[in-house]
Amino acid sequence: MKPSTAARLVDPRTINADLHCHSRMSDGTLAPAAVVERAAAHGVALLALTDHDNLDGIAPAAARAAELGLSFVAGVEVSASWGNETIHVVGLRVDPNDAALCAGLARTRHGRDARAVAMGKSLEAAGIEGAYEGALRYAGNPALVARTHFARFLVERRICRDTAEVFSRFLVEGRPGFVPHRWATLAEAIDWIVGAGGVAVLAHPGRYRLNATARHALLVEFKAAGGTGIEVVCGSHTPAQYGEYAAIAAEFGLLASRGSDFHGPGESRVELGRLPPLPALVVPVWHDWRIAA
Ligand code: AMP
Ligand code: MN
Ligand code: MN
Ligand code: MN
Repeated sequence: MKPSTAARLVDPRTINADLHCHSRMSDGTLAPAAVVERAAAHGVALLALTDHDNLDGIAPAAARAAELGLSFVAGVEVSASWGNETIHVVGLRVDPNDAALCAGLARTRHGRDARAVAMGKSLEAAGIEGAYEGALRYAGNPALVARTHFARFLVERRICRDTAEVFSRFLVEGRPGFVPHRWATLAEAIDWIVGAGGVAVLAHPGRYRLNATARHALLVEFKAAGGTGIEVVCGSHTPAQYGEYAAIAAEFGLLASRGSDFHGPGESRVELGRLPPLPALVVPVWHDWRIAA
């Protein structure tokens, strides 16, 4: 991210930024360096790798980005609980060596493993054997087993046609394989990110099952806790939601982010760098970052 003095600075409005994606260090399918290569090949000029609850991919991704001359920022997607809802908070430009952030993420990962064991037992009770071991085979990082890895195993076993079908029949509330879990609190997740010098961004707000009153309360609490950004154009939003969340970003004075949430070729709805630009009325979260072309 350090431009030489000769480097041309880029207009933040026109830059192809992708600030949300995953590698094998969480539930993506590509190695961190391969994610960077693919992003560059698809025209991404500013990339953040945001694996779930860990920073293991940051060093290899940053190294590959430096070789390719791609602007790269360290990111993470922290799992948090707010009431009964799981909320994801993306941290951008974090110091990957920050002690409190690393300790908080380690604690979150520990809870994940116990949950994965319980998910395996729940699926076994529904007649599906060996799911924990099966999911572990798909996990590129054994410390980070996610529902996505279980989903891949159920597809492999031909219990479902694809991972989308898995998430409608299994692993969600009221279905086999679902295990309720308490993640970090919203305040903890934001504190870890901000304490590590980062910007806390509310991930894919359109995905949470909240009515208008609850969503308003979440946004108020998110801001009060130190959150400063919100995903407006992201892989899980519809075009109508780009406008809806742009208006919310403006209303709450939040900076807007853009990210594909890419998990791998053939599995993600949206390719790296292929989303539309942010609506004109919002301020990009990267508006004051020095980005060289
Ligand atoms: P976990 O953090 O273990 O609860 O897993 C959450 C991950 O599951 C998300 O980051 C997504 O990658 C994936 N996921 C959740 N819901 C769906 C869905 N409806 N369809 C496909 N993938 C999903
Ligand atoms: Mn994921
Ligand atoms: Mn997420
Ligand atoms: Mn994600």
